[in-house]
Amino acid sequence: MTPSLDDMYREIILDHYRSPRGKKPLEHSDITTRGQNPSCGDEISLDVEMTDGVVKDVHVNCHGCAISVASGSMLAETVKGRSFEEVRRIAEVVRKMLKGEQVEIPDDLGDIDALKGVRQFPVRIKCALLAWVTLIEGMKSYENGKSEASTTISTEDDEPK
Ligand code: ZN
Repeated sequence: MTPSLDDMYREIILDHYRSPRGKKPLEHSDITTRGQNPSCGDEISLDVEMTDGVVKDVHVNCHGCAISVASGSMLAETVKGRSFEEVRRIAEVVRKMLKGEQVEIPDDLGDIDALKGVRQFPVRIKCALLAWVTLIEGMKSYENGKSEASTTISTEDDEPK
């Protein structure tokens, strides 16, 4: 039991919520992708600029609860300079961490491990996943030659209510 660690996580999340990263609009974007989490009312849109197969820059615009905004902000901080493959790998780490599965969290993921605290609140897991699911949907469309995508996080997946 380490309440101080929980406090630390909470502080990091609130810091991202209060001053989200990735706020600066892009002059040029290759992918525009939107996501919704109806179970909480979170909405996010991501603009991504690609260069040589890696994410050059990302603009995140999220309206929702503190967790969804903080997770979008962490995404903005983490994905720059990464290939789709790396982004998918990070998203998988985030998903496993949130579901409480055993996972090695790489050192270079910034504040992402602060999302660990969210797993105590199952209804918030979708909030934390929204940005990641949305980005991956956008990447998929991009790989299929489209520049726009949208997705809705299902309210009926495997989460216990
Ligand atoms: Zn939310």
